[in-house]
This record gives sequence, C-alpha cells and structure tokens, in this order.
Amino acid sequence: MAEKTGIVAFTGALLAWPVDVRLTILFLGAFLLLCVSAPFFPGFSFFLPIISKGRRDRAAVALTFDDGPDPVSTPLLLDLLDRHQAKATFFVTGKRARRHPHLVAEILARGHTIGNHTYSHDIFVMFKSHQTLVREIETAQQVFRGLGIVPLAFRPPVGITNPRLTRALAETGLYIVNFSRRAGDRGNRRVRHLADRILRRLRWGDIIMLHDVQPKDETLLSCWRDQIEAVLAGVDQRGIAILPLARLIERPVMSTAAAK
Ligand SMILES: [Zn+2]
Repeated sequence: MAEKTGIVAFTGALLAWPVDVRLTILFLGAFLLLCVSAPFFPGFSFFLPIISKGRRDRAAVALTFDDGPDPVSTPLLLDLLDRHQAKATFFVTGKRARRHPHLVAEILARGHTIGNHTYSHDIFVMFKSHQTLVREIETAQQVFRGLGIVPLAFRPPVGITNPRLTRALAETGLYIVNFSRRAGDRGNRRVRHLADRILRRLRWGDIIMLHDVQPKDETLLSCWRDQIEAVLAGVDQRGIAILPLARLIERPVMSTAAAK
C-alpha cells in the first residue's frame, strides 16, 4: 500500500508543479506524514499486510493476551477462560516462555494457542537493525520449538510496525496479527474500568488485546481478575461468541513442531 500511495503522491506532486508549487509540497508532505505515522496504527496495513480483525458479519470476537506468561496472572486467567469455555491466544515473549515453560505447557494443555511477541519485548525493536529484528523473532521461535510448537502469528511490541518487518517475517515464516480493540490498560497498570473500555465500543469481528501480567500494584490483582471476568460475561451477554483466533481470522496461528 505504501508503494501505491507513494506513486500517487509523486505523480500528483509532479503534475501539480506547473500549477502551484505549494500543491507539490502538500502532496509530498502528506505522503511523508503517512510514512511517519503509519507504524503507530496497529490496524493500518500501510507498509505491510496486518491482520487486526476478523469478519464483521458474524457475532464473534477473539481474545488475545500479551506479555505473559506470568506465574500469578496466567493460572488465574486460565481458570477464568475455562469457566467461560473460551479459547484465547497468548502472545508471549521468548524470554518469559523460557523462564516459565510449565506455564506455556499449561496454556497449551487447556486448548489455547501461542503467538510470538519477540524474545525480549524491546519496545524500540522496530527502530533497530534488520538483524536485531530477525534475532528477536527467531530466538523466541527457538524457545517455542523447544516446547513443541511453532507459532505462525507475530505481534510486535505495543503493536508498532515498520517496513523492514516484511522481510524479517518472510525470513522467519510468520505473519502479523495486531488487534482492533484494547483497554488502554498500559500493561495492567490501569485496570479499573478495563471491562467498560473494552465492551463500550465492542464490534463483531474484533480482536481484543489484553495483558497477561500481574498488576504492578498487588492490591489491584483481584480488581483485574474481576475486570477480565466482566469482559467474558459482557461479551456473552451481548450474544457474541468468543472464537479461537484461528477461527476468527480463518487462518492457523500455530502448528506443532515436527518430531526431532
Ligand atoms: Zn506487549
């Protein structure tokens, strides 16, 4: 999409030149603005195809939990999901998966799927070199392969993308899944009214992004748990099904590693 927009912008700029040079500047300026801002819109496929929602014509959404696994929040979450018979996708980091392999095993045993969320969750990784980007993705994949799975879906830290990611993903065999609904919970630092923020503008086809980390403030743990429960109950009350991500986007998000 960036290439086509670029061609339009430059053709427009050239054609406008004899008319008014200010128009030329306008065309180029608009293109530049798009290039600079696109990485910060999680669902904007400007530089590369990004899946951020499912079909809008079905009463269904998918749940995703980022940044885990976490010894405190993951077990709580798994019990809540079981109680609501909901299957989610956990975008975990390689570093945390390596530290808590039993939690990854438990997530899988309960029928959920795992996505790649880089190895170390460096939020500036998109501004670093191609090699660093590939290493962040591939090191995490190695950890996951060691646990018997091959994630196919990749979610960049804080949903930020960049043009170089296309090549990095082609080399590592993954595709991007971002989200269309988030709570603005800042990694569970802001958990009060989280359910309200998700449910208020929930739409069919939404990919919901929440966090699987314990709140920094311990006293908020039960509040967070109640809020997640309220999200699950609220979706249900609206007559919306929670589908596994793979079914919502009609594409596999994970495969099992071939036996060595
Ligand atoms: Zn994250």
